[in-house]
Amino acid sequence: MGNKIKANAIAITGGASGIGLATAHSLLGRGYEPWLLDLKRETLDNACDELGLARDRGIVCDVSDEVSVEQAIRTVSANMGLAGIVNSAGIAFDRPAVETSVEDFKRILDVNLTGSFIVSRAAARLWMERGEAGSIVNISSVSGLCGNKGRTAYGASKGGINLMTLVMANELGPIGVRVNAVAPGPIDTPLARVVHTEDVRRQWNERVPLGRYGTTDEIARAVTFLLSDDASYVNGQILAVDGGFINAGLSA
Ligand code: NAD
Repeated sequence: MGNKIKANAIAITGGASGIGLATAHSLLGRGYEPWLLDLKRETLDNACDELGLARDRGIVCDVSDEVSVEQAIRTVSANMGLAGIVNSAGIAFDRPAVETSVEDFKRILDVNLTGSFIVSRAAARLWMERGEAGSIVNISSVSGLCGNKGRTAYGASKGGINLMTLVMANELGPIGVRVNAVAPGPIDTPLARVVHTEDVRRQWNERVPLGRYGTTDEIARAVTFLLSDDASYVNGQILAVDGGFINAGLSA
C-alpha cells in the first residue's frame, strides 16, 4: 500500500435517516468522510445540511438496483478512496406468516437482504480490483437472531444478513476486508414507529433488561467501532446492541 493516502470515505446506505444518519454524525466526529446513499433527493439534502456536508455527499441510490449501487460506490470511491460501507437501508414488516403474501415477503428480502448483498459485493469487487483493504458493517437485527412474532419476512431477511456476514468475513478476510454486523434491539426511529404499537412498545420495555429503547447514537458508536482500526482484529462478528435482550433468560 506504500505511499497511498489512507482511504477515508464511508458509504452509508439508508444514510438520510435514523441509524444511518446517526452513524454519519459519529463518523464525522472520528474524522471520516461519510457519504449518504438513500432513496430521496429531499431527505438526502436535509441530512447533508444537518451534518454540515455539501449536498453532493448525498447520492440517490436504491440498494436493490445493481446499476444504481455500482454508480454510487464508484462516485464515493473516486474522491477519498473507500474505507468502508454501512448497510443500514432497510424496511420493516410485522405480520403473521399466514397473512404474509409472497409479494411482501420478496419485497422485504429484496431491500434488506439482496440490497445489502449488492452493496457489499460492489465494494468488495472494488477493493479487490485496487488491492485495498476495507471494512463492512451490516445492520441486521435481534429479529434475525430469535423468533420474534410477526417477523417471518423481516426476521428471515435479517437472519440472512447475519449468515452473509459470516460467509463474507471468511471469503474477504484474506484480502484485508473485515465484515461484521450490528444487531440492534428496539431503537426509536421512523422505521420502528411504523410497526411498534403501544403494546409492542410495552413488551420491549418489559423484556429488555435495561428497561428501555436504545438510541440511534448507541448503535452508531458500535458501528463506528467496528468500522475503525480499533476493531482491526474483529471479523465475522454479530454484535447485539440490545440492552441485553437476546441473551436474557427468565426475569421472574
Ligand atoms: P429509518 O427508516 O430511519 O432509516 C432507514 C433508511 O433506509 C430510510 O432513510 C430509507 O429511505 C432507507 N431505505 C429504505 N429502502 C431503501 C432502498 N431500497 N435503497 C436505499 N435506501 C433505502 O430506519 P432505521 O431504524 O434507522 O433502520 C436502519 C436499519 O436498522 C434497518 O436496516 C433496520 O432494519 C435496522 N434495525 C432497526 C431497528 C429499530 O428498532 N429501529 C432495530 C433493528 C434493526
